[in-house]
Amino acid sequence: MPNIVVVGAGVSGLTSALLLSQNPAYKVTIVAKHMPGDYDIEYASPWAGANYLPVSDESNNRWEKGTWPELQRLAKYVPEAGIHFQRAEALCREKDFKSASGQGFKGLFSTNPWFKDVVPDFKVLPKETLPEGIDSATSFTSVCINTAVYLPYLVSQCLKNGATVHRAILNHISDAADLHHLGKADVIVNCTGLLASKLGGVMDKEVIPVRGQIVVVRNDPGVMLTVSGSDDAEDELIYTMKRAAGGGTILGGTYMKGNWEANPDPNQAIRIMKRAVAMCPALTNGSGRIEDLSIIRHGVGLRPYRESGVRIEKEKVGNTWVVHNYGHGGWGYQASYGCSEGVVELVKDVLASKSKL
Ligand code: FAD
Repeated sequence: MPNIVVVGAGVSGLTSALLLSQNPAYKVTIVAKHMPGDYDIEYASPWAGANYLPVSDESNNRWEKGTWPELQRLAKYVPEAGIHFQRAEALCREKDFKSASGQGFKGLFSTNPWFKDVVPDFKVLPKETLPEGIDSATSFTSVCINTAVYLPYLVSQCLKNGATVHRAILNHISDAADLHHLGKADVIVNCTGLLASKLGGVMDKEVIPVRGQIVVVRNDPGVMLTVSGSDDAEDELIYTMKRAAGGGTILGGTYMKGNWEANPDPNQAIRIMKRAVAMCPALTNGSGRIEDLSIIRHGVGLRPYRESGVRIEKEKVGNTWVVHNYGHGGWGYQASYGCSEGVVELVKDVLASKSKL
């Protein structure tokens, strides 16, 4: 009966714990500083939109491709997960890909992306229907996740499978080995997001924040809209999405690499709202006035970005095997099941190698 400690209760830790706990042979303990219900700048998951807009290219699409079927199943058959379908439109301005930050999103705005055969209803929109300044656009069916419902749902599914949950702050990843509810851990799964940059035994300096400021409103955009960039600044974006089950509409945003600022900037908030009402007239019934937005709250989350990409690998730290799953940047939800399947494979490898000793 292998003992597994998952460190982290964001979408990466909880999805990893969920898939691991589906195996009755595994005894899973989740240990985390922050849990669903908390809003903290060190905890990215509650702040996410969160939707499925793939950003990988064909060569590294395993994590996102592997996640769509489960998000689709949850949206169709599991209303208590807080996920619904929404029509997405991705609007592309060629000039946005001249910047380094724009390059990272190129795949999403392609008119022939790998995911055209994965998501339903993929279409290239006719040029004559596009708003001024937009060079090309696609539409497809995506999902939007109400993180305030979905994260507790994941906890509830882990508990149902027999996992236990424990609050603790670790100074060193190896400390997790002593926090399993049944004894010494055989494997630790490290899902510490941005704090992987500061955790003893990991200290990954490639992990940096990408600051995302948002405004949550009661207005309905009618469509999940995302534009490849804005004229306000290279790191200022335009996107809207309505969360399932009364979660409000997220207006975004910013994509500020290396910026740790936790407080919303009021000027940025005004620019976010102005861009949203201009690009999505349905939000304010065509008035185009930000005064007609009904604001629920302003927020800031830090995407846990890793320069060379997500780290899904095993490593022996001291005497204990660690399986890493961190560094998902702005796509932790849309890759969550694919990445967690990768974790399950690595945990199996580790346990198989231990049993041979
Ligand atoms: P986190 O959610 O940060 O969780 C880390 C966990 O580790 C926490 O529980 C923390 O307490 C714990 N931890 C860390 N260090 C320690 C320690 N020393 N001891 C104990 N516990 C520790 N993604 C999408 O897929 N779609 C979207 O539409 C989307 N939109 C986004 C919009 C914004 C504004 C932002 C900020 C992000 C968005 N993302 C989106 C990205 C997504 O939110 C992240 O990729 C994802 O939440 C990362 O999850 P995580 O579990 O890896 O990290």
